[in-house]
Amino acid sequence: MVSLSTTMRRLGIITVTNSAVVTPTLIYSTASFARNLTLPSPLRNHHLTNSIRLLKSRSVLSSLSCFSSSAAYLPALDEFPSTKGSVAMRDDNKKVILKGMSYASLQEWVESHGFRPGQAMMLWKRLYKDNIWAENADQLQGLNKDFKRMISEHAEFGALSFKDVRSASDGTRKILFTLDDGLVIETVVIPCDRGRTTVCVSSQVGCAMNCQFCYTGRMGLKRNLTAAEIVEQAVYARRLLSHEVGSITNVVFMGMGEPFHNIDNVIKAANIMVDENGLHFSPRKVTVSTSGLVPQLKRFLRECNCALAVSLNATTDEVRNWIMPINRKYKLSLLLETLREELSSRHKYKVLFEYVMLAGVNDSMEDARRLVELVQGIPCKINLIQFNPHSGSQFIQTDEDKMIKFRNVLAEGGCTVLMRFSRGNDQMAACGQLGMLGAIQAPVMRVPEQFRTALKASV
Ligand code: SF4
Repeated sequence: MVSLSTTMRRLGIITVTNSAVVTPTLIYSTASFARNLTLPSPLRNHHLTNSIRLLKSRSVLSSLSCFSSSAAYLPALDEFPSTKGSVAMRDDNKKVILKGMSYASLQEWVESHGFRPGQAMMLWKRLYKDNIWAENADQLQGLNKDFKRMISEHAEFGALSFKDVRSASDGTRKILFTLDDGLVIETVVIPCDRGRTTVCVSSQVGCAMNCQFCYTGRMGLKRNLTAAEIVEQAVYARRLLSHEVGSITNVVFMGMGEPFHNIDNVIKAANIMVDENGLHFSPRKVTVSTSGLVPQLKRFLRECNCALAVSLNATTDEVRNWIMPINRKYKLSLLLETLREELSSRHKYKVLFEYVMLAGVNDSMEDARRLVELVQGIPCKINLIQFNPHSGSQFIQTDEDKMIKFRNVLAEGGCTVLMRFSRGNDQMAACGQLGMLGAIQAPVMRVPEQFRTALKASV
């Protein structure tokens, strides 16, 4: 019999050169994909070959390493160069990207070109405030010609190219943007009848986390977004849709990607969004969501005063290990204990737990009672979210009656609990439906025996 390592070598695995990421554990993990796949064997072999091809693509290594128990869970993601340092530069023409700069950096940059700090403030306001949202130097009313010329020569206003906007029957809009490298991201604007409109921004192209109920997770990770690309989504949504949907008041980092896998740019973007002379979102109304990257979660709570959401979705490690492979690295107990500790000294700060309800998987009354126990001592709200199906998904929605019973158990247990039903479903704009699958997809994890009957018969 040919050994696993020989097979791997024959299939080209040793050509992967990034030793920081490719570990024996990772190679083992790759092989275990094939064993874990719920596919007939010819397909399984095809998938194994694809998985190995993926190994040659650095960008997807992270999705593979989800399954590793080694310390090298997160790949080095510092190679995305355009946001390094205080001034973001476009690589090709060396122009700065204005929306990638904090106000302090913008001021420093303006002064380095011989202009007064006051002009930096005027520029900042025209980028972000008073419904101007300037797209070029001609729209910088009130700024002098020399300053405008300098801006034209040395700076870029946009970080994204508008591609399309799609409207769902419930008023939700999905905006598609093309990036400089041709990749496409999606941003969702969700009007609400209580005078609140939320923009849901993406933080990565694809995602490495491979949550089993999420369409974006099936894509694998292509790359991080820069701070400018994140900020621009909120600016563009306001520019494009404010006259139709009213003021956009809230931001959630719940689009494509795991925000804490791109934490430098996410913190930077969130801080730009809450600047009171600029976009001026209230920090309480900017919510960053994570699947549970514990070290980054601690850092976020220390460096950013925006709100935090944690996507929980299970009450046991067994289920969470399956539907959210990140749990193999950071177990439920560690995640919750970290929150308990970190939030104990914070005044009036509540984490939002998101709980996507999957029929027969995590929606029993026993789960509800366990959830009450798990969140004891953590200042929190719990959002019960209706699962949004997508092509190839193996899960089934929990029906509304059962969601209500589940909600009642939580409420009786003293939890603050909300229910959230699908928005934008008919345009694939709902939670967990963003992105576009390529030919190669992240693997489907092996379903624990006792849950097989709860899944779609076709899978
Ligand atoms: S749910 Fe979020 S973290 Fe999980 S795969 Fe989808 S985008 Fe990534």
